[in-house]
Amino acid sequence: MERVTAAPTQPKLALDELDAEQAAAVRAPRGPVCVLAGAGTGKTRTITHRIAHLVASGHVRADQVLAVTFTARAAGELRNRLRALGLGGEAGQVQARTFHAAALRQLRYFWPQVVGDVPWKLLDSKFPIVAQAAGRAGLSTDTDSLRDLSSEIEWAKASLIAPEDYAGEVARLHRDAPYDAKKVATVYTYYEALKNTPDGLLLDFDDLLLHTAAALEDYPSVAEEFRGRYRSFVVDEYQDVTPLQQRVLDAWLGDRDDLTVVGDANQTIYSFTGASPAALLDFSRRFPEATVIRLERDYRSSPQVVSLANRVIGAARGRIAGTRLQLIGQRPDGPEPGFAEYDDEPAEAAATARKIAKLLEKGVPAAEIAILYRINAQSEVYEQALTEAGIPYQVRGGEGFFNRPEVRQAVQALRQAANRDDLPDARGADLVTLVRAALAKVGLTKEEPVGAQARERWSSLMALVQLTEELTAHDEELDLSGLLRELAARSEARHPPTVQGVTLASLHAAKGLEWDAVFLVGLADGTLPIQHVLGPDSTVSDEAALEEERRLLYVGVTRPREHLQLSWALARSEGGRKVRRRSRFLVGLVPDDSPASRIAPHTTATRGPKRVHPTCRVCGRPLLNTTATMLGRCSRCPADIDQELLTALKDWRKEKSEALSLPHFVIFSDTTLTAIAEQRPSDDRALVAIPGIGAKKLQTYGADVLAIVRSRARAEG
Ligand code: ATP
Ligand code: MG
Repeated sequence: MERVTAAPTQPKLALDELDAEQAAAVRAPRGPVCVLAGAGTGKTRTITHRIAHLVASGHVRADQVLAVTFTARAAGELRNRLRALGLGGEAGQVQARTFHAAALRQLRYFWPQVVGDVPWKLLDSKFPIVAQAAGRAGLSTDTDSLRDLSSEIEWAKASLIAPEDYAGEVARLHRDAPYDAKKVATVYTYYEALKNTPDGLLLDFDDLLLHTAAALEDYPSVAEEFRGRYRSFVVDEYQDVTPLQQRVLDAWLGDRDDLTVVGDANQTIYSFTGASPAALLDFSRRFPEATVIRLERDYRSSPQVVSLANRVIGAARGRIAGTRLQLIGQRPDGPEPGFAEYDDEPAEAAATARKIAKLLEKGVPAAEIAILYRINAQSEVYEQALTEAGIPYQVRGGEGFFNRPEVRQAVQALRQAANRDDLPDARGADLVTLVRAALAKVGLTKEEPVGAQARERWSSLMALVQLTEELTAHDEELDLSGLLRELAARSEARHPPTVQGVTLASLHAAKGLEWDAVFLVGLADGTLPIQHVLGPDSTVSDEAALEEERRLLYVGVTRPREHLQLSWALARSEGGRKVRRRSRFLVGLVPDDSPASRIAPHTTATRGPKRVHPTCRVCGRPLLNTTATMLGRCSRCPADIDQELLTALKDWRKEKSEALSLPHFVIFSDTTLTAIAEQRPSDDRALVAIPGIGAKKLQTYGADVLAIVRSRARAEG
């Protein structure tokens, strides 16, 4: 690594921003420190202040500190908080990185000393090599199998299990492997061998860590140089460490003990990747002289949210649960968390969008609102509902629905089917069958497959089938090309990612983060907890996996500062059979006076008024798709767009977006402007009747827009 001569750093020390226990962890003398505490108690704040304190008191230089965590976003969060304390991320400052990024840097620097001039290359993806290995082993090389094999190899490497030990360990751990363990072991063996190519070594992400540890373990000169350079180590979210990462950490430390770790065993949600809270829970056994601090005060969430969080985790069982502490809310009172049950997912999504619109009107910034769900495939219906409501959003920790590889492949397969002239002209139920058949070619199976990746992919494909069912239910005449037009319109109508938007994220991607308002959606049994931890008849098949699902809910419940809404739907598609019920984790949590609690599972009662579809202002027929709803007319009915007005509106939007430094679609989407140019609203009332324009937009931009429409009318008249 490059040597840097750092200007002495003077961090801003702010011990008054800490409570007594946090300050004790911050001031603890050099040596091992462990903060074991619940969500929102200030663990991340404590480690950043501890680093500042160690530097300010002269224990270490800023550039001798290495702070690590697990995701790029969490590392970014650490860097931001360090920067606020005057310990920025520039050279000569504290290094805050992911384990992988730190290892990559170190390996680049030490490689010549260790391996000489053998060239190496980092693999972006395991896929091509796993495909070759699977082919050699005589296994299927379709995308689903390759994904499952790749995750299995990743799990084995993260758990420090070599190919020859894999089958034995799978048996010992009763692991639910995607294929016969011996076969996986063969693929794993080939995979490792194939990375040694005549042109040099190919390294995957796990190899970065393995080689870094080996360089430090086996080459005293490397260890000496490294340990002279870095003296103090800090790990955030330590409950998620894998045995491989722990080995790297041990290699960094050598026989030193200047290590601060913080974590919450009750937020362990990455066990499937090999992560384990054992190192966190055993820390004081390994370092008997360690300062161990427990924090109980929750500074993030209102007492109402904290109380629910305590009840969620209070029901947990097992060793991990035994370490929990009751959180004590420190913030002012806020609203009680809300619970809501809906007939189907589209109704749940539409209601969520309406509630978000209300929060935006009250002045809660969009970037302070999140919708969190169990699996990424759940985002589709929310992307749709937010688009229809004209609310900008960003999908985190996964791609927007239409950008997912499986969805692109599926749309491609549907296009191919549309181009064949030997297929019947299918409509209604026949269209659904035809779509299922076309998607079978890209991996849609009848039964939900085994393997997390395969399931995720399957769920995205099922979301497309579900969408087809819904559209055909509303429009008996819809055929395949009509469906493709609708999919294209939906994909187009959606906004590109925006930092000012509402966040859509999976619960896994939400760890460590916080928002003012959080909507936990899709809390149906079989989604959270997810189906595959339940046995037939919804009995529990895997107790440990069920507890991990409960922890996921706990992570979700502990994200909001103030507003928390939990919801679920009884059917998947609109008007579908109501076969679902609320998550078993919510039993006993929904208060008696909540409207949701009065709804017995499996009943058909209590839907609000059936969603009324708006009608076309040209032909009067119901409008069934997004673009049509936003335009207020069927796409086939004649348009009456005032092109000059549209140009004037777009010019105005451009000026505004520059003046306010906002992306233009945050002001108004193209579809909304087109609708204005068609409908030429003359007053506030006509303007808010256009989808995408709520009270907030009316207040901010209404006068401008109406003035443009009027001046254009005068020019015409
Ligand atoms: P998680 O387990 O979710 O990662 P955490 O324990 O790391 O949570 P932080 O993110 O550090 O918690 O803190 C939660 C929130 O409380 C942050 O907004 C932080 O700035 C604030 N906070 C922490 N400690 C204090 C304090 N002593 N006084 C005021 N605010 C605090
Ligand atoms: Mg944290």
